[in-house]
Amino acid sequence: MIRKLLDKIFKPKSSQGEASRIESHKSTQHQPSRPVLSTKRTTKKNTRSDRDSAQVITLNTHKIDLKLLSSGAFKTVEGLQKAGFEAYIVGGAVRDLLLNRIPKDFDIATDATPEEVNRIFRRSRIIGRRFRLVHVLFGDETIEVSTFRGSHLDSGDSKVTDSGRIIRDNVFGSIVDDAIRRDFTANALYYDPSNQEVLDFHNGFADIRAGVLRMIGKPETRYAEDPVRMLRAVRLSAKLGLQIDAGTMAPIAKMADLLQDVPPSRLFDEMLKLFLSGHAIESVSALREQHLHHGLLPMLDVVLEQPMGERFVMLALKNTDDRILSGKSANPSFLFATLLWHEVLAAWESYKTENHPPIPALHMAMSEVIATQAEKLAIHNRYTATMKEIWGMQPRFEQRAGKRPFGLLTHPRYRAGYDFLLLRCESGELPMELGEWWTTFAEADSEIRTAMLQADTAPKKRKKRNRKKATPGASNNSEPSATQ
Ligand code: ATP
Ligand code: MG
Repeated sequence: MIRKLLDKIFKPKSSQGEASRIESHKSTQHQPSRPVLSTKRTTKKNTRSDRDSAQVITLNTHKIDLKLLSSGAFKTVEGLQKAGFEAYIVGGAVRDLLLNRIPKDFDIATDATPEEVNRIFRRSRIIGRRFRLVHVLFGDETIEVSTFRGSHLDSGDSKVTDSGRIIRDNVFGSIVDDAIRRDFTANALYYDPSNQEVLDFHNGFADIRAGVLRMIGKPETRYAEDPVRMLRAVRLSAKLGLQIDAGTMAPIAKMADLLQDVPPSRLFDEMLKLFLSGHAIESVSALREQHLHHGLLPMLDVVLEQPMGERFVMLALKNTDDRILSGKSANPSFLFATLLWHEVLAAWESYKTENHPPIPALHMAMSEVIATQAEKLAIHNRYTATMKEIWGMQPRFEQRAGKRPFGLLTHPRYRAGYDFLLLRCESGELPMELGEWWTTFAEADSEIRTAMLQADTAPKKRKKRNRKKATPGASNNSEPSATQ
């Protein structure tokens, strides 16, 4: 009977019904400290010496306000701790709290394996291959829970390329192992809300106080393991106003080429974070200083070197930064459409000089730019479709006669197309008067709109005639000249 009951509680949920899952930390409260009976332990229990090797920073010193934690973060730590596991808030959230910033999300580190975490929280799922993690869902909030990582040099589920890049990494370890695997000292702080202590294994607290971003371990090795850390250094320093430590900075210029080997989807994610950080201008300038932009956005190299292109991109980034910093959302499709616009313009021009009609030439240019860029930066299809719509709408803004402007106003992406047009005007590519005309036209009543229309000078569309099939040998001279 007892055996049966234990089986019912602890068997993996795949072999049980949904209803028998451990529902929440409330029901885990009465469980023994290790709720998994038969699975092999893959994590190491932290010992006293683990904790002893950390500096313990107490509330008096760190002054983190508990009220700034999200309820999801709180409940996740509580649920894990009540089930007998260790759990801490880690990474960017602790760093941001210490810098008096509101964290944008919360990550938790624990000694529970992904399966164990998954069993504790009913609304959770295991994700990822390179790093297996658990997403715990609380309404709109997603809390990312990762198991303490061990060294990839230990045997286990890890894989490293010849250049030292880690491509799979599922070896679990202790909190000490986990801390050493993190990138910067400021990102390796472990905050336990239950006793309000921060565990600091790499002097991250002092670095944050001193405004320094410092790599843990030997920077060259850490960049070789994961070249994306170079981008993270630039992005985090721009976003947080931290100075990159000289030793952390020095290898970047000579190791920048390693980014070529990073899978495009990861580069895309990182670039998106960079552009949507609210500090895109500083980040792009820093990338250029470090020559990191060459491999990332090859077309951006060209664009930034033309005065008009640079002005346009900088205006677009400034616009995005302003939106993010004032709490508005920014659309990645719009952003990538701006970054690549001058490349599209150049390709469009060249197709037109090859005598392709303007609209087909624009579509050829758009496809060409997307195809070339996609190789480097895996811009997802769901973004490229919108980018093409925004670009494709642009020639229509120059048509201000007849029914055409009314049609354009009803386009589902009109607003994005119009904002894009305004940037083109502000950058000097088009006269300001065109943007102003659309601003007025969109807001005016129908009488004023009609009065605003320009004279229709475009050639009238010809009606299709029923042509007689030309018989071989017959002269074509009888065809009306207008159709030739
Ligand atoms: P952000 O505020 O932009 O989210 P973050 O530091 O929280 O910054 P995440 O990508 O959310 O960035 O990562 C969470 C934590 O995971 C980091 O703080 C760091 O401890 C660790 N981490 C992330 N990426 C790496 C990496 N490439 N190498 C080592 N540790 C990493
Ligand atoms: Mg984060």
